[in-house]
Amino acid sequence: MGWRSSGEETPLVSEKQDVLLSSCPLLLPFLTHSAMLCRLCNLKESIENSHVIPRLVFRSIKSDSPTGFLRSYRTPNRRVQDGDKQPLLCQECENRFSIAEKEFAQNIFVPFHKLDQDHFSYGPWLHYFLTSLAWRTLVLDLPGFEADPTITPSLLEPLQASLRTMQSYLRGAAHASDLIRHHMIVWTAAQKCSPELASIGPNVLIRRSTVGYALINKRYGHAAVVHNMAGIIAVLNIKGNPRDNWLNTKVNPTGGVITQPQNVASWVLGDLLDALMDRNRGISTCMSEKQREKILQELQSNSAAGSLRHAMRDALLRSTGQE
Ligand SMILES: [Zn+2]
Repeated sequence: MGWRSSGEETPLVSEKQDVLLSSCPLLLPFLTHSAMLCRLCNLKESIENSHVIPRLVFRSIKSDSPTGFLRSYRTPNRRVQDGDKQPLLCQECENRFSIAEKEFAQNIFVPFHKLDQDHFSYGPWLHYFLTSLAWRTLVLDLPGFEADPTITPSLLEPLQASLRTMQSYLRGAAHASDLIRHHMIVWTAAQKCSPELASIGPNVLIRRSTVGYALINKRYGHAAVVHNMAGIIAVLNIKGNPRDNWLNTKVNPTGGVITQPQNVASWVLGDLLDALMDRNRGISTCMSEKQREKILQELQSNSAAGSLRHAMRDALLRSTGQE
């Protein structure tokens, strides 16, 4: 994919104070009095192990890590065994989501993760899967926005409407699909970028992390939900910035193909990169010297680790790929 992040292509990054990231987990117990009911059907009891980002994505990162474990960015010395779990869905709705999730795993994520495949044919399942992902994250993040007195009702309304539309689509109302605008970016490797970006190692940063969150630009009212799944970047444009450019990234509800080259200039990706850089800084400052040494040793002794491929690309980028 050809997106190169720089200040020029992501003009709103400098207005970071206007971009709000929701932080709702602490509020959740107080705001969702019906939290035990499935959030999709509102009929059955939700189960404990509903994952926001598919388990496979976490498993894949873990399996090609030299130490074999995920690391939490808040407490990097603790090994995190799995992804984010939330009691969101009942078993029946979880099963409904898992059909599209399996198609995504087999047809896109696995060939991308193992072989760096960057072109794909897809059926309606891709749009459904991306909607299930965005819906889960928005359900969790919206209460944080709603509890924030600086967010006006007119800023909130598009997010609330989007949640309702996605809910009815996920429950079977296929006609709602045209109102749900997804983009998917296949980040195999950055080959050229600014010296600043090269210095932080964008390939490891993107290919070895997962994150998902909703965001609002308070000044302009733009809103989106973004996920990075170890290099498959999914963006739900709730209220897009008309100045953004998206080439070959749109996901058609009825199916289609993802081809290269893809080119994107969007405030959403600028923000995602900022979020990943913040996270990375957290890791490097919190990690103990002993942990750091251990990782380096294991990387050197285990050249088959998939993560080494991305680290080598970053080394190359630092030496030759800067603009
Ligand atoms: Zn349900």
